[in-house]
Amino acid sequence: MKKSIAIIGGGPTALIAAYFLSDKFEVTIYEKEKTIGRKFLVAGKGGFNLTNSIKREALINTYFPKDKLRSPLETFSNKHFRMWLAQLYIPTYEGSSGRVFPEEGIKPVSVLRRIEYNLLEKGVIIKTGYELIDFKNNQVSFTNGEEINADYIVLAMGGASWKKTGSDGNWIHLLTKKGISTKPFQPSNCGISVNWDTNFLSAHEGKPLKNIAITYQNIQLKGEATITKYGLEGNIIYPLVSLIRNELNKNGSAEIELDLKPHNSVEELKNRLGESSNYKDKLQLSPQKNAILKQFTTKAEYVDHSVGIQKVKALQIRIEGLRPIDEAISTVGGVDFESLNDNYSLKAFPTIFCAGEMIDWDAPTGGFLLQGCFSTGFWVAKNIAHNET
Ligand SMILES: Cc1cc2nc3c(=O)[nH]c(=O)nc-3n(C[C@H](O)[C@H](O)[C@H](O)COP(=O)(O)OP(=O)(O)OC[C@H]3O[C@@H](n4cnc5c(N)ncnc54)[C@H](O)[C@@H]3O)c2cc1C
Repeated sequence: MKKSIAIIGGGPTALIAAYFLSDKFEVTIYEKEKTIGRKFLVAGKGGFNLTNSIKREALINTYFPKDKLRSPLETFSNKHFRMWLAQLYIPTYEGSSGRVFPEEGIKPVSVLRRIEYNLLEKGVIIKTGYELIDFKNNQVSFTNGEEINADYIVLAMGGASWKKTGSDGNWIHLLTKKGISTKPFQPSNCGISVNWDTNFLSAHEGKPLKNIAITYQNIQLKGEATITKYGLEGNIIYPLVSLIRNELNKNGSAEIELDLKPHNSVEELKNRLGESSNYKDKLQLSPQKNAILKQFTTKAEYVDHSVGIQKVKALQIRIEGLRPIDEAISTVGGVDFESLNDNYSLKAFPTIFCAGEMIDWDAPTGGFLLQGCFSTGFWVAKNIAHNET
């Protein structure tokens, strides 16, 4: 008789673990919501970056802590992931900056259904409306009163943002109660809060700041950010969040530097401005750039061209904080690597494994989050199978 596996959670991490475990085991997925993969579908609403085609070492270097993610990422890399998707008839293509998307016309829901179809074909049972409230080595209890036994348990209950998708992070209390070391959840890949002037906001909320560079602690990123009611949002901001979060945690405040004309030198801008104080027309600053310059520059600085131009090139903006966890694309915190063996089983419960966003690792957007989830899901499946050889 085949040994049994209970997978708790029905996100992408659970799905890949179930797929590979079902070669050898009887696998059942227990998801607390009415349907599986709800956050996966939310992820698909923007640009659906399944992974990133970046080279192997660069891929590993994207993660924190990279030494803990190395084995899962090497064992199930972005190449393996794309090959697996292709096997399931989910062709992908590489878009800008290496981001990998499902081929045009393939909707996120079709990706999810395709994976689900293959799981059912392989005999995986999917049970919804099952919320884990307790576990022992080989036993799991749910809020509906059911208790089940399984030879191995995989916990894949996700992070703590976008609670409405089911990923509420409430499981952290149970794990802490069981003596498993966890870290508090914090937002990652989220917007930053800036204290805008109300007049600035009423004119510019929702508008883009195009062609800018943001510098934070010697890292400079070029691109676009969106002005929001609370601050700034966008792909140029997210990769800086982990560093900003560290400084906010340490010092309570942080500052970014905006270059509003990254393609022009100070000299070029000085020549263009001449004796005029019309920064907007002479330097071709968009209304948003001009307004932001005025908001963070005193009148005296604006009139004094040598200072004003320096501000165009290096406008310091104070960050008040990060956006709340629930709005974040991902979270850090959760299961501490200290409580895991190298094979991602819990030191305190060796037949129970953890994978996906519920573990305390971080990565930027651009396909790296899902890649991390699929790689760690595969990693636990491989290690459980290895235990039985
Ligand atoms: C707006 C948005 C856009 C995103 N875009 C991208 C993108 O383009 N590319 C990318 O790589 N990543 C993206 N992500 C991130 C990605 O969706 C997540 O990292 C990924 O879904 C995490 O997978 P997971 O399986 O570990 O957890 P989840 O997908 O969160 O799944 C966990 C599941 O466990 C269930 N659960 C929780 N507690 C219990 C319990 N006690 N009992 C039973 N079940 C439980 C939850 O209901 C949930 O279904 C995006 C996220 C958001 C919010």
